[in-house]
Amino acid sequence: VSKLKLLTLLLLWPAFCQASRVVVIGNDFRAALQGQVDLASRFYGLDVRQAAVGSSQDLAAVTSLLKEPDTVAAVVDSEALPYLNREVVLASLRRNAGSVPILIVAARSDHSSLASWSGGQMMDCGGKPRIGDWQLQITASAQSAQELSGMLLSFRGQFACALELSADFTGHVLIRTSGVAAFPAFVETASSRNRIFVAAALLGDAAEITTANGRLIQQFSSILPVMLFLRQAAGDRAWQAPGPYANLTIDDPWLTSEYGNLDYQALLIEMEKHNFHTTVGFIPWNFDRSDAAVASLFRDYPGRFSISIHGNNHNHAEFGDYRHHPFADQAFSVRQAIARMDEFSRLSGIPYDRVMVFPHSVAPQKTFHALRTSDYWSTINSENVPQDGEAPADPLFLLRPETLAFDNLLSIKRYSAEIPVSKEVVAINAYLGNPNLFYIHQQFFSSGIGAFNNLADQVNRTAPSTKWRSLGYITRHLYLWRRIQDRLYDVFAYSPALALENPEGSSVTFQVHRPQDSSTPVRAVLLDGKDIPFAAQGGEIRFDVAVPGGQARSVWILYGNGQTTASMSITKADTAASVLRKLSDFRDMALSVNPTGRRLIAFYTAHERLSITIATFLGLLPVLAGLLLVWLWRHRSTCAPQGR
Ligand SMILES: [Zn+2]
Repeated sequence: VSKLKLLTLLLLWPAFCQASRVVVIGNDFRAALQGQVDLASRFYGLDVRQAAVGSSQDLAAVTSLLKEPDTVAAVVDSEALPYLNREVVLASLRRNAGSVPILIVAARSDHSSLASWSGGQMMDCGGKPRIGDWQLQITASAQSAQELSGMLLSFRGQFACALELSADFTGHVLIRTSGVAAFPAFVETASSRNRIFVAAALLGDAAEITTANGRLIQQFSSILPVMLFLRQAAGDRAWQAPGPYANLTIDDPWLTSEYGNLDYQALLIEMEKHNFHTTVGFIPWNFDRSDAAVASLFRDYPGRFSISIHGNNHNHAEFGDYRHHPFADQAFSVRQAIARMDEFSRLSGIPYDRVMVFPHSVAPQKTFHALRTSDYWSTINSENVPQDGEAPADPLFLLRPETLAFDNLLSIKRYSAEIPVSKEVVAINAYLGNPNLFYIHQQFFSSGIGAFNNLADQVNRTAPSTKWRSLGYITRHLYLWRRIQDRLYDVFAYSPALALENPEGSSVTFQVHRPQDSSTPVRAVLLDGKDIPFAAQGGEIRFDVAVPGGQARSVWILYGNGQTTASMSITKADTAASVLRKLSDFRDMALSVNPTGRRLIAFYTAHERLSITIATFLGLLPVLAGLLLVWLWRHRSTCAPQGR
């Protein structure tokens, strides 16, 4: 039966996988416009078909393309307008219900065609090309621009001309420029039988933009009108994320009533008031020292608290350069971390997510391989590129924080909230369906336990539908889906572990696929814990999941060899690691709770060698050592293993 099923699956696949289409019409394609439409279409999973015009024969071909049921949008270079028959084109875009939207991109003054195509709503796109630093004000409603409505995005580059609206204009201005010059740059004209959008051609210049945030904002601004247009045009035929998600992760603490400036009970009150979720980036070395009262908070409030994995021993860069930290040690740590976390869960009754946050900085690529073959779900760090890797040149890479470019492991970018977070980046990520992931350390709360409230409020204001969840929950919802036909969805899985939720009232089928590499074949696909058949084809694995109305199914694609970590030693025999953990406790829990201590830490962090020299010179080392001993003696009981 399963073979027959597989065969049908393979036979039917290509037909189902057909993407919706954008038709780009021009006679002499401007590379910039083509590039913008290509990039936005790849983001949304739409096919692009170019249609040239110049003869009456071309015109017939264009009309039949526009009439095809899979065509969901048309983009026209304004230079092609004189070759097209407005009535024929608009008629071929009309459907039984509504019409396929059309975007006219105006690149120079051409009074008569813009005026007639807009039904007299526009006069022209006039003036000379202007280059500089612009602000794009998104005046579109929240219904059409979602989280971007009301935002101001910076854009560096050129506008080819300025839209000039006629006195009769009754449509909507969606983007207005300011900075170099002020004019409407993207509008929807009022038209009863068609949806006609007009944009002034723009061309970004990212050459001198060096910051990661700056590059994301610039890349997005450069294709903004096309992105807004295509998302509206394609609807659920375009790739979309299951929801806008956010998370706050605190690296390093263990579960003790107060870890430095972090008081879990007090934080819970802030989370309830300001609606956010906190994940602890938990160091597996701490597996057996949880405080019973804190553990019960985590068990009682799984919607507010969760646990992910932060290194293993956290002894400096244990996942750093292979010259100082050999790969074999790192591969061992990757597995020992799981063994320790399993024991943590057994002792505390708290589940954990198979998500690795590397200490200090992201690991080299071979360690990504070790994570994947140990069946981790993802790794989340301030960089999504491994430390010995190079970011792909594809501009699409900038637009999503998640990537499978490195050993097919899901690697996701997160943002430090210890430095000011860009409002623009939060809004762009929410609009694009990207998770907004933030991280801090306990010291962040030295100004008060409400230190994160403002950022939480800002995210919730920008994207009111944001769901604050654990890193595991967010990872399991890192897939793209789009509707192929009635009750049939195409799913691109970033994560090997998926929670597939049926958005409809009746049963639907998800056709799931994930890139596959020859080096590490898939061992099994589990659906709610049971093996299901899958097919490997064309560099992907594929399988179907039927989900009854309103329900969810859980999928796990396994890569490991099935060896468990149950028999691994989890002892803390490494004394160097133990000493370092105690010193970190002293820093975080004793020094960091008062201003002088915090100044000492800041100075030490910035000038490690100088600090030691000064301390030695002033004879301060014995004093610090004494303080440390007293503190360790007072806290000796918290190190005993404690269960629930
Ligand atoms: Zn850390």
